[in-house]
Amino acid sequence: MRVLLTGGAGYIGSHTAVVLAERGHEVVIVDDYSNAHPEAVRRVAEIVGKAVPMVEADLANQKAAAQAFTDAAAALGGELDAVIHFAGLKAVGESVAQPTRYYRTNINSTLNVLDQMRAHSINRLVFSSSATVYGDPETNPIAETQQVGVGLTNPYGWSKAMNEQIIRDAAVVQKGFRAVLLRYFNPVGAHESGRIGEDPSGIPNNLMPFVAQVAVGKREQLSVFGSSYPTPDGTGVRDYIHVMDLAEGHAAALEAAGEGVAEYNLGSGKGSSVLEVVAAFEQASGRPVPYQIVDARPGDVAECVADPRKANAELNWQTTRSLADACADSWRWQSQNPNGYAKDGEVTA
Ligand code: UDP
Repeated sequence: MRVLLTGGAGYIGSHTAVVLAERGHEVVIVDDYSNAHPEAVRRVAEIVGKAVPMVEADLANQKAAAQAFTDAAAALGGELDAVIHFAGLKAVGESVAQPTRYYRTNINSTLNVLDQMRAHSINRLVFSSSATVYGDPETNPIAETQQVGVGLTNPYGWSKAMNEQIIRDAAVVQKGFRAVLLRYFNPVGAHESGRIGEDPSGIPNNLMPFVAQVAVGKREQLSVFGSSYPTPDGTGVRDYIHVMDLAEGHAAALEAAGEGVAEYNLGSGKGSSVLEVVAAFEQASGRPVPYQIVDARPGDVAECVADPRKANAELNWQTTRSLADACADSWRWQSQNPNGYAKDGEVTA
């Protein structure tokens, strides 16, 4: 298939580009590089041994989105068959501080992508959703049948829930439309080559990149947010999924998409606490990860673990990589690229 990856230079997009290209799909990336680096796409091309065309555009802008779809099809020499829509802002805390920016970017880009798909009769969409849409889950592990979009605590999460609804409504009026909403749990790790990985700007919000920066000596210590949750060791429990497993989930969803809209959890089904992640990273890196316990982070839930059985059964997909694998791959990426994709001497905050 000819597949357009919006936000394809980002963390999950770049790993998915590798998997798709290796499965014989033709990939074109559209990104505005606001939180990504063209170097990531260059390295994707190096890994797969094939050029990966890029189109620079801000998809939240209607005119730019129209031009980008035309340019993307031209770059692949034919009309697109599918879109994987990764593009969007993703920092939870920032979304609380800048709500209108988050809604404007995350909603407008989806509206423009849907309009362009209709205009070009592109009938396959895979959307980056998030386990955040479940809010504070009633039970763990979480199945897709649990309620969505109730009591969410930040605009980022709301924008994902709203986008799911927008896609469902758009699917009604486009004949033959196939959409898959993928609810990610906690993506971690990197491609095993160490050439691509997560490159957060500034201070990482997420646990694994922060831990990696402590291990490499870039930051002094980790703050563990809360130690009195009702979990085995008192720290928060999450379902960490290797980014390559997640990328394979996108390829599976793209290929298996049936008519209408379906939603799937992409997670491992296994919960790990913050302290278990710290221990696994120390083991993988051979470096100490000093930490201090601080207050819980507002809005965090105690536990969030996927029930991935629907994706396992209907997408013919399973995770095959462990938390230890993710830590080893994340460490390879971090230690070989201590400044991410920035060139030597470039300021990275
Ligand atoms: N966490 C932490 N210190 C950090 C970042 C995260 O203790 O510097 C904890 C957080 O409270 C949660 C887990 O690590 O229990 C995963 O957080 P992350 O931000 O990576 O993902 P989330 O599950 O919040 O989307």
